[in-house]
Amino acid sequence: MQFELNLLENSYDYLNESLEYYKRIGYDETHNPEIDSIDEKKKWKTTFLLLVQSVELLIKEKLYRVNSILIYEDIDSKNIDKSKLITYSKSIDRLLNLYPIILQEKDKQFLLQCGNVRNECIHGKVVINSIEIKKKYCKLFEYYDKLHSKFFNKKYFNNIFKYEIIQIKEYAKGFDVYRGTEFLQKDLKQFKKEIEIAQLNCCVKNSKEKYDRIRFGSEEEFLKNKFPDGRYTDYSIYKLNYCSDCLAAQNEVHGECCDLEICPKCGMQLITCGCFETICKN
Ligand SMILES: [Zn+2]
Ligand SMILES: [Zn+2]
Repeated sequence: MQFELNLLENSYDYLNESLEYYKRIGYDETHNPEIDSIDEKKKWKTTFLLLVQSVELLIKEKLYRVNSILIYEDIDSKNIDKSKLITYSKSIDRLLNLYPIILQEKDKQFLLQCGNVRNECIHGKVVINSIEIKKKYCKLFEYYDKLHSKFFNKKYFNNIFKYEIIQIKEYAKGFDVYRGTEFLQKDLKQFKKEIEIAQLNCCVKNSKEKYDRIRFGSEEEFLKNKFPDGRYTDYSIYKLNYCSDCLAAQNEVHGECCDLEICPKCGMQLITCGCFETICKN
């Protein structure tokens, strides 16, 4: 089978590939060296370079539409050498010569910086920080979207990856990582407040009794005392820096309704055992 793809179709193809990768590694991503897999994190390299590739082809499509010779290196010879296409950085310069107000200097510098990261990913030694590269990725995607609208008077839309795209656009405005977990800036403030409040409610009670709650990290000692028959042998989830359900740190009280909190009376899961009705202050 033989087929031909134009620059724009090629650009969409790279973008689709990149979003497919994002879906696999970026959508529910953690940034916690204790549980992250390096092999998964390495995929950021391909995810990012596919996006740069798609931006490059998008810009070249625009140039091509202005005049098909504009995608070649030397446009002044009588016989243009069609084997020499312009580079990524030159395509940005050429675009800006034609449309000086389409990008500001800071936008140009950002696009060039992304090109350098791509080159490093392909050719050289590269240090990748999953938070930094994700921030760059989300911002670059936003550029793709903006340029697409400016060039073709229509927004880029892709139903297959609509949830990923919503997240990427939100993250492009900024996100923070706290205890290895991503938060939109407004949500992080709320979350920190919730942890603070949770620490005050360090007891559980019913109509007759009141017990201290089992803090994250003290489960092993408690369970070993409670069940000397050794029915539990794996305590690894309680040894992490942060609870994998509620993000409580070692020695903190779990967040409300955490799946991993155990009951201080019966030793089973607190939210389902039924021993206590409410949490309360000391
Ligand atoms: Zn928890
Ligand atoms: Zn119980």
